[in-house]
Amino acid sequence: MARIFGELEHSPVGSVWVNRKELAAAGVHRPTMNGISGTAAEGADSIVISGGYEDDLDLGEEIIYTGTGGYDTASRKQISDQTFSNTNNAGLVTSQLQGLPVRVIRGAGGDPGFSPTSGYRYDGLYSVVDHWSEIGKSGFRVCRYRLVALTDPAIFHAQPFTKDAVPIGETNPRRISAITTRVVRSTKVSEYVKKIHEYRCQICGIEIMIPNGKLAEGAHIRALGKPHNGPDSIDNVLCLCPNHHSAFDLGGIWVSDDLSVFDFNGIKIGTISTNPKHNLDNQHFAYHRSLWGNE
Ligand SMILES: [Zn+2]
Repeated sequence: MARIFGELEHSPVGSVWVNRKELAAAGVHRPTMNGISGTAAEGADSIVISGGYEDDLDLGEEIIYTGTGGYDTASRKQISDQTFSNTNNAGLVTSQLQGLPVRVIRGAGGDPGFSPTSGYRYDGLYSVVDHWSEIGKSGFRVCRYRLVALTDPAIFHAQPFTKDAVPIGETNPRRISAITTRVVRSTKVSEYVKKIHEYRCQICGIEIMIPNGKLAEGAHIRALGKPHNGPDSIDNVLCLCPNHHSAFDLGGIWVSDDLSVFDFNGIKIGTISTNPKHNLDNQHFAYHRSLWGNE
């Protein structure tokens, strides 16, 4: 059966089910055990958050969600590392990269401030906006995702979709822009860093000309905002081309203390170019490496 993304007509926000079997039968979240419904190839269409993972953090409109795997259901303990090669975990990454909406179902047992007192409840569509890995409370590595409630879920209400159907395109392009998630905000600090490097990528050296100047991005090594809480200071910012910025943010590349650049297989692909006016703090590179298991 084709995986259906978006809100299902028969199950609007607030719909409730007694148990996982009924929830699965409704097609809102099909697996009866797993918290993530999805595969690497297709993306994830739904998740359940119900307090199973000690590292989950439910803030209502924002959820820091833990991946699957390495969990012993008998002892209810994490007993080994989680990886993004697990197809369910990779499914949520695909959802981030493709801007797919994820149905969020809360179960009793989750954060009491946001969870139903019994059974399972559909709470609307969320986007995956970030993923990384870290050492969890158990001492084992866990996969982590930040999901935020879609501010305009109306675009999916009327038209749940499957990925195997032939795309018919979109007559209203504004709808398409609503599901792209990559926004690069410039700050005074990142503008300063870009000027120092004359808008050349510090990894590949490319200089991209556009009609009004040059195109480069200020890449925060340790990301701003929760839960990374990196500073907006020049020692935490690189001047990168959009390709290398994306690759860096998504774990495709990492940087060692001597400023060598490695791909995710550990093969050296270059060296960060430096400038005396731009000191970098190695602690931020160490933090970035820790997110992708390279530390
Ligand atoms: Zn580059």
